[in-house]
Amino acid sequence: MPCTSPACAIEVHGTCQAPFGDRLRAAVSLFASSTLSEESPLVVVAVERAVDRSPDGLTYALPPKLAQLPEGARVEVPLGRGETPTAGWIVRRLAADEDPGIPREKIKAVLAQDASGAVLPGELIQFARWISAYYACPIGMTLASILPAAVRKSIGRVERTLVDLAAEDARAALPKITKRQQHALEVLATLPRPCELGDLADASGYSSTEPLKRLIASGHLVAVRKTSVEAGFIARAGRVPPAPQATAAQQAAVDAISADLGRFAQHLVFGVTGSGKTEVYIRILERCVASGKRAMLLVPEISLTPQTVGRIAGRLVHAKVAVLHSGLTDAQRNQQWQLLAEGGADVVVGARSAIFAPIPDGSLGLVIVDEEHEPGYKQDSAPRYHGRDAAIRRAQIAKCPVVLGSATPSLESWVNAVERKVSRLHRLPERAPGLAVPKVTVVDFAAERREVRDRRVTLIGPTLRASMQRTLDEGGQVLLLLNRRGYANYIACTDPRCDWMLTCDACDAGMVCHVDATGAARRSYVRCHHCLAEQLLPKTCPDCGKPVTVFGLGTQRVEEELARLFPSLVEGETMLRVDSDTMQTAAHFHHALERFGKGEVKVLMGTQMIAKGLDFPNVRLVGVISADTALSLPDFRAAERTFQLVSQVAGRAGRGEKPGRAIIQSFEPDAPAIRLAAAHDYERFATQELEDRRQFRLPPYRRLARLVLRHPGETECAERAAALAEALRRIVAGGFSGVEVQGPSICPIARISGKYRRQIELFSESASDLTKVLAAARSEGLLKLGEELAVDVDAISAV
Ligand code: ADP
Ligand code: ZN
Ligand code: ZN
Repeated sequence: MPCTSPACAIEVHGTCQAPFGDRLRAAVSLFASSTLSEESPLVVVAVERAVDRSPDGLTYALPPKLAQLPEGARVEVPLGRGETPTAGWIVRRLAADEDPGIPREKIKAVLAQDASGAVLPGELIQFARWISAYYACPIGMTLASILPAAVRKSIGRVERTLVDLAAEDARAALPKITKRQQHALEVLATLPRPCELGDLADASGYSSTEPLKRLIASGHLVAVRKTSVEAGFIARAGRVPPAPQATAAQQAAVDAISADLGRFAQHLVFGVTGSGKTEVYIRILERCVASGKRAMLLVPEISLTPQTVGRIAGRLVHAKVAVLHSGLTDAQRNQQWQLLAEGGADVVVGARSAIFAPIPDGSLGLVIVDEEHEPGYKQDSAPRYHGRDAAIRRAQIAKCPVVLGSATPSLESWVNAVERKVSRLHRLPERAPGLAVPKVTVVDFAAERREVRDRRVTLIGPTLRASMQRTLDEGGQVLLLLNRRGYANYIACTDPRCDWMLTCDACDAGMVCHVDATGAARRSYVRCHHCLAEQLLPKTCPDCGKPVTVFGLGTQRVEEELARLFPSLVEGETMLRVDSDTMQTAAHFHHALERFGKGEVKVLMGTQMIAKGLDFPNVRLVGVISADTALSLPDFRAAERTFQLVSQVAGRAGRGEKPGRAIIQSFEPDAPAIRLAAAHDYERFATQELEDRRQFRLPPYRRLARLVLRHPGETECAERAAALAEALRRIVAGGFSGVEVQGPSICPIARISGKYRRQIELFSESASDLTKVLAAARSEGLLKLGEELAVDVDAISAV
């Protein structure tokens, strides 16, 4: 007798030696198949695998027990010759008379529904299809990434038994009960039902639930099982100012956008920092909710603070607001997701992945993307979608307006508004009434450093220092930005004749020196920011034995210098450093902001975490230690990034009654990105930058997909990249004259974590041609995503 497991060829008498789980599953599968009939409903299932050969999914049959499973349900199906149980999604139910294209007897049965019971709405399935096609990621993998792990694992789900009265006529025929039990039934009739067993015991004077359970057994009471997700309360602290009188510009934007509720339309709100964009969002959210529809507001992860959420939820008094962000516990995330799926929330505020909120079909009425230029909207694992572009698509599917907002719009969105006219532009050119535009001064940092006598002082020049002193004396608060973590980013030999510099063993990159200030002894160590390898800081050069020196910038060094220059500031009390080393969780960050908001902390110093979205009225000075950290990167977006960062951080100043000021230290004070950001002149910057982009045929004038190949062997990596590039050129030659294949070339960081890296870039005049070329490559099996290949459509990272 053969073993029941198809994967197992052992002929046995008795028990097969195959693992028990396999045998059990195989038995279930056989059992399920045997219950199939000609009438069993057929479904298309997308399995959660990196396979692309059958891009739409595979056909399975639903056994009688599962016959009602809807589209969007997560299931387990047998896959391949081994019939390995594999998770997948029902993406389509075939019509009863539809020909599946394969003989019935070859169709296997769906094994089970996923224990979470999750079902995605049809609009999300449609959305996932687009993500899958556009971002070249198999549909099953895409769907897998849509469902939060907390939901899949049912974290926080509890099952409770509630009770209700049995129907009157049914009760009449039942055996007699005691007076006390009769009393309990009468009490129950007065309570909201179904009711918790414990609550009924309390209300009817029983000290235990046992007598009530006997009433369930006798049929007088009916038990109602109810599952719910229990999670801690989500704090929504925040200053909720009363609604101000809208300015004319705000009102015009609100009216124009509201007029589009009920149909797809794209809007760009271009408003300087502090111009009251959030106020515009709040008003259109109110209108959307009043029209009976639901809305979605995406904000960048780092500005998704209780402050933001509190301000919005506090103003939308008639709406139930759900939140989705990385600061939630798993149970909270599951709870918010279930709330949305059941239609229990009117508005969801969340980070990038909230674009996948399970809003019931037909009810999404508005999508807003705040700070749409933020690179944080791009997902950096498959599917590598861009939250803003995906938002536009989601709105298109839901037939509702999408609103992008920024003080420094991405050039993609700017071109869509002013050149292609696919979105409508709303300008908020002035700050909200009572708020002055901060005065921005650019300091030639090289010149300042030459003047300073004290050689130890290298990061905070005299202008910034004096201004900080004055601000602190006057009771104002200060934000200081340096977009680089650690202590110093170069470690080299002191002998000018020796060119030794410390690089990571596993990456082609330098290492960063960090100071560990815990404990009595200060210990310095070096860390690679790419593979996270660490070692102690070497004292002497391994090549010549001379001492080693560290130089360059880092937030820890600013911290040290602040302590020297401002002895009254106490680190951890009146001064806080905010970077991903000190703020390991969202809660740490939120706590730091809370203390800053209360005024306990006078100086907040850190990386880009503090550059965005913060709205603290007492910030009167913003200092940028070095505006140049991004300018020299090998990335065509370097100038755009620098412009955005400087404008955004300067925009944190002067959001209260007192005017604000920003001081930008730069080694390249004449770089247009810095000069124009200081002059608050986005439009001129955009115009100049777009001229370059047009001339070099770079995005947004062409689409760019970046394919990165990774392999531990340098030769293999190069060979595979060459073969892939050749295959892509062949596909392109077959009829895509608007697509250009560049490379392969060595990535700017040639090796990370011991893997060599080569890239191929596809430039395309049209988005649809790019999708077609990638689809052709996928159907040939050329783009199997994983450790060795990443496909990044509309890439914004160049390393
Ligand atoms: P943005 O999102 O454009 O940076 P905000 O919406 O945060 O700007 O507004 C900046 C500040 O101005 C907030 O404190 C807000 O309450 C206030 N504000 C916004 N609109 C008005 C208005 N029409 N009148 C008075 N104050 C306003
Ligand atoms: Zn490394
Ligand atoms: Zn040396």
